[in-house]
Amino acid sequence: MLDASILKAMESVVGGGNILGARDIPARYFHDAAGWKSEPDAVVRPRNAEEAAGIVALAYENSIPVTPRGAGTGLYGGCVAASGGIVLCTERMNARPRFHKEDLYAEVEPGVVNGDFRKMAEAEGLFYPPDPASLGTCTIGGNIAECADGLRSHKYGTTRRYVLGLEVVTPEGRLLRMGARTVKSVAGYDITRLWVGSEGTLGFITSAVLRLLPLPQARTALAASFSDAGTALEAGAALVTDGLIPSMLEVMDAACRRAASAHIGKDIGEGALLFVEFEDMQSVCRESAERASRLLGDEYGAVVRGDISGAERARLLQGRRSVLPALWTLKPVVILEDLTVPRSKLKNMSAEIEKIAARNGIEIALFGHAGGGNIHPAFLGGAGDGDEMIRMRQAVAETAQACAEMDGSVSGMHGIGLDKAPYLKLEIGQSGYEVIKSLKASLDPRAIMNPGKLFYEERE
Ligand SMILES: Cc1cc2nc3c(=O)[nH]c(=O)nc-3n(C[C@H](O)[C@H](O)[C@H](O)COP(=O)(O)OP(=O)(O)OC[C@H]3O[C@@H](n4cnc5c(N)ncnc54)[C@H](O)[C@@H]3O)c2cc1C
Repeated sequence: MLDASILKAMESVVGGGNILGARDIPARYFHDAAGWKSEPDAVVRPRNAEEAAGIVALAYENSIPVTPRGAGTGLYGGCVAASGGIVLCTERMNARPRFHKEDLYAEVEPGVVNGDFRKMAEAEGLFYPPDPASLGTCTIGGNIAECADGLRSHKYGTTRRYVLGLEVVTPEGRLLRMGARTVKSVAGYDITRLWVGSEGTLGFITSAVLRLLPLPQARTALAASFSDAGTALEAGAALVTDGLIPSMLEVMDAACRRAASAHIGKDIGEGALLFVEFEDMQSVCRESAERASRLLGDEYGAVVRGDISGAERARLLQGRRSVLPALWTLKPVVILEDLTVPRSKLKNMSAEIEKIAARNGIEIALFGHAGGGNIHPAFLGGAGDGDEMIRMRQAVAETAQACAEMDGSVSGMHGIGLDKAPYLKLEIGQSGYEVIKSLKASLDPRAIMNPGKLFYEERE
């Protein structure tokens, strides 16, 4: 519970109506999309960087935890107030971005929704590649804090590649600008990259300078169906080894495909799907798609539908983006993993996960961004009663171990948050852990920014 005088001081910064005390907080601010839940003492909605800085300064003086929040679509508990205190929302920080077309960048506030930004960029003839499946809701601030990516990550990379500069409120409440407005800059340490993917634990992002590309001239897509997801993953990796550079290389197993068809009420076909798309000059797209079709059909026995466009492409992409909501309606308990391994190990990793699921008696479905070596095994449960949750958690722990043994990462893009904190050391080792802990301590000496996230022992 926050002291009334602190609430009053915060109200004088953001104005009445933009601070919600404990009794007035709508339930949506308590949880994230996966159901991680915790109640804050207050929700604060600043309009601009100066207001956000004023609020964080007050929180610092009074050692009040601050949890930044975008749209709350995160999946690992990052935006929930695990230690109480205030939730600092970006929902009013969504002014129209400023485009600098000649120099291919835009200045963007953190509360702008990814999909809206992409559309505005397109209207300027520009292209912002990171496109999480949640693009209709998630915000640019949340994307930067999680280093999100999406269906196009193989060719274009993740959010990190597009963040040229940032403005953040430091934990003491100072405004700090970092990075540049140029593609090249080596002035000092690259602290911009440190903030990207820092999950709100180092400060509050108030503005970003985002790099843009010219719109692709053409695109060609094909859909390849396989008898199993392992072969689809192996075939996808082979396309890359063959020198092709698809913009999308998305996979879903037969269970996900069925669930997505039912969820969107449109048939997106049977079997494991590899959706492949090329974006380039027309001639390059055509030649690449022909080579890909031959390789997938001749060497991997896929049934290939080439040159799909218009309604069929839209249907398949809608199905792909709907897999997670589809699984949520299919089963009461869904534990979603977000692991990456080097692409050549994807098939082995998926076989290993099947063994883990079978050993623990758990149903499994799998989809993901094969191009980035990033797959989402989803452990599916009934009511989660009896010993089911224990077996599911065991499967998660075994998956993290298997992933580490295959030189992978427990989180390709969903972050560490609360969910993956127990496995962070497994991946970065004791020394790596100590380095990031000391960085956190030096940048956030009172540990007010998103406490409880990333570092597991803080919760013990
Ligand atoms: C159906 C579905 C599909 C998804 N698909 C993808 C996908 O394809 N790729 C992908 O990467 N993710 C995906 N996600 C996960 C999620 O959408 C992303 O992590 C997204 O980047 C979160 O954005 P948000 O605005 O909802 O942030 P939130 O969930 O509100 O917050 C996420 C994290 O960012 C921090 N944060 C938010 N704003 C700021 C700020 N201004 N300053 C500092 N820290 C901040 C929060 O503290 C928290 O730690 C999916 C989620 C759903 C529900």
